[in-house]
Amino acid sequence: SRAEAPAPRSRRPALSYELFPARGDASLEKVRRTVAALECTQPDYVSVTCASARTNFPRVLELTDHILSETGLRPLVHLTSVGSSAADLSVSIRTLMQLGVRGILALRGDIPPGYDTRDDEFPFARYLVELIRRIEREETATLAAGRLAVGVATYAQRHPESPTHQHDIEVLLTKERSGADFAITQAFFDPAEYSDLVRRARRAGVTIPIIPGFVPMTSVRRLTRFAELSGVHAPAEHLHALETASGPEERRRIGIAASVDLIRAVLDDGAPGVHLFTFNEHVDALGVLDRLDLGRWAREPVGV
Ligand code: FAD
Repeated sequence: SRAEAPAPRSRRPALSYELFPARGDASLEKVRRTVAALECTQPDYVSVTCASARTNFPRVLELTDHILSETGLRPLVHLTSVGSSAADLSVSIRTLMQLGVRGILALRGDIPPGYDTRDDEFPFARYLVELIRRIEREETATLAAGRLAVGVATYAQRHPESPTHQHDIEVLLTKERSGADFAITQAFFDPAEYSDLVRRARRAGVTIPIIPGFVPMTSVRRLTRFAELSGVHAPAEHLHALETASGPEERRRIGIAASVDLIRAVLDDGAPGVHLFTFNEHVDALGVLDRLDLGRWAREPVGV
């Protein structure tokens, strides 16, 4: 089944990277070097994750400011609502807008085990989307040059707290109706899961672009950590192939080839872009991109 209408593309699929903020001065240098290396590929935007809007926001601002002031890139800043009041989040949103940020990924964030929910926090991400849109209406002077792009998360595999896959689709629809412009998926390893998500979403009335997210499949340690955090597991055969590879070069070759196969399948099915979770390492992300040849999807439109 095709995921999106197979319209000819006039340009390459959208390209974006996810980075996380530095934890200290050494890692700030490292992420700056990563940003510089990724900039050469002319991504449409780079996203900056946020572990907690309450505690690591200064580090988010630091990396965002670097991107805005010292590169030609556009940041998409993640904002999580868990642990923050609407008043705190309003301050964060206005701060981002005043810095020049025009794209926000509105998330709830993971609930830590044993966490005691605050009375004044939003239970779901859609309320954060609504808050961003409300502030946008109030800040027309700041936004003279245009509106904010607001993205949300969605899941090709069921979100761990969702009772069913269909529930996830309903949630995505509420986020679109609250004002989301696009969605980025959690990483997945089976292209059919992405096609299925898009097909169900379209059937339910979701119209916004659904951009697939990918983890470069080069490191067992990273894939294992990712599975612990997200509940999404890389195929056991792939982990086995990485573990039994003859050395780092072979491991890298296997990982990049697997990522490229997955991304190609999804782009061939009509996906509107590629979002790479870089873990602040540019070498593997660039390796994937090199082999992928994104321009191919502009030269040879899908489905024609
Ligand atoms: P929501 O959309 O609020 O959904 C959370 C849960 O509540 C889901 O199970 C949903 O089905 C359920 N739900 C929602 N609305 C309703 C309703 N009305 N009634 C009943 N149930 C409902 N986490 C971070 O901490 N920092 C990051 O920077 C970050 N970046 C991410 C980037 C991407 C692309 C993705 C896919 C995830 C990212 N996450 C990040 C993880 C994300 O915060 C978690 O997956 C979190 O558990 C859910 O966030 P959400 O925004 O999807 O929440």
